[in-house]
Amino acid sequence: MIHYSISTYEPSNGFVHIEMRFKAASNTPIVLQLPAWRPGRYELANYARNIKNFSIKNEQGIAIPYDKITKEKWALPSSMNVEITVSYEYYAQQPDAGNSFVNTQLCYINPVNCLLYVEGMQHLPCEIKLPMSASAQVACQLPFDGNSLHAENFDQLADSPFFISANLHHHSIQHGNCNIHFWAAGEVAMNWEQLKLDTIAYANIQEEIFGALPMKDFHFLYLFRADVFRHGVEHANSTVIAMGPGKSMIEPLAYNDLLAISSHELFHVWNIKRMRPVEMLPYDFTKENYSKMGYVYEGITTYYGDLTLVHAGVWSQETYLKSLSDDLKKHINNEGRFNYSLEDASFDTWVDGYVPGVPGRKVSIYTEGLVAALIADLYILQQSNGKYRLNQVLSDMYAQTYLKQKGYNKALYKQLLEKWSGQNMDWYFQDIIEGKGKMTAQLAAVLSWIGCEIETQLAENGQVDCCIKIKLDQTPEQLQLFKKWLNLSA
Ligand SMILES: [Zn+2]
Repeated sequence: MIHYSISTYEPSNGFVHIEMRFKAASNTPIVLQLPAWRPGRYELANYARNIKNFSIKNEQGIAIPYDKITKEKWALPSSMNVEITVSYEYYAQQPDAGNSFVNTQLCYINPVNCLLYVEGMQHLPCEIKLPMSASAQVACQLPFDGNSLHAENFDQLADSPFFISANLHHHSIQHGNCNIHFWAAGEVAMNWEQLKLDTIAYANIQEEIFGALPMKDFHFLYLFRADVFRHGVEHANSTVIAMGPGKSMIEPLAYNDLLAISSHELFHVWNIKRMRPVEMLPYDFTKENYSKMGYVYEGITTYYGDLTLVHAGVWSQETYLKSLSDDLKKHINNEGRFNYSLEDASFDTWVDGYVPGVPGRKVSIYTEGLVAALIADLYILQQSNGKYRLNQVLSDMYAQTYLKQKGYNKALYKQLLEKWSGQNMDWYFQDIIEGKGKMTAQLAAVLSWIGCEIETQLAENGQVDCCIKIKLDQTPEQLQLFKKWLNLSA
């Protein structure tokens, strides 16, 4: 067992005090590692910059000498059965969905930012003692015994952010065998009953693909901010979503955006937290985990996040087409699409995946990944006369990989696209996944099959405005396929 304890002596100064206690299991040197990145953000993080007053002591409180061997790795000599305590302060002042934040009202921790593990001991159960007050509540996917959270191993601990506060809003609704919890920190104006209904509606649609939510409790941890903000991070049985301004969440535009990000993160429950590319199985927290398949784990998730809202009837056809038009606008205005392939964009999230980058260099696994998913979906729909779509590919891949404790690769994805379309899909990989500059023409072609076109207009700022329009001469066959695409009643 690895024991952690978190305390907030002076939360107003922004630091939490962290202790880690364990017994050395062998006589070989002990190596301590702070994760170099966090799943969901495929770039190196440099969390070690937030650590100060680092010390390692034995049971008698005597300092043990150590060596720092990388920017987030420490080595110390071992003697069997000596209890070791590592302690440090961690600066927690980043209130987004993937970092940690403390003030006098809230203690919000992402363990992957700030907890170390012992190399070779990641499989051991972990206990994390929390700074509880009589009135505080804890929001977390891990079991809580009144004082501590319990994780089966470090991987699960690293995947389990939590809120502690006396001021959390908590709502829940039973959905099949899963109790869905909504926790909110920060000021918010929200129609909670509507949010519950809408969440159940899009969850139902996502479950049609992958099966019922595979957990007894799922937690939405909403961190509402006063400023304009939008960020979400997925976990196995929870998600953190940082949004703002919290007071706007009863306004249709802000509420629809909250639904969009929530639906995206719920889709990740299956598509990345369970079904995962083979090179990320398991995650390696010490270095980059390169994958060229971001178009599956982020692209398809971005596509289905919005699509399942219109399929559920939570969004209107107009709201969906407007949102899709906004995504296509980002695609069309990015010169990078002539210089960079989608799979290279996935590999290079570790280089510059989350910043604008140099002009015209690159594309996004989110935006271009969405376009790639849309092309695949409409292609299968058309080739199968409306019988199948990308849903079957995902469902099949989930059964063949996650349910058999395996990861997926490009060959399997291609094989399944060909199985459900009934066609050779070399063109798709050559042009859309590995190619440059060919996506826009393919997009226009698949949209024409449902009687739609992209209308473009030069805007005053020099950008091209984009709008997906239903063509005036849309045929009854095209209309039928269009309705299948958006799951609209006949
Ligand atoms: Zn995502």
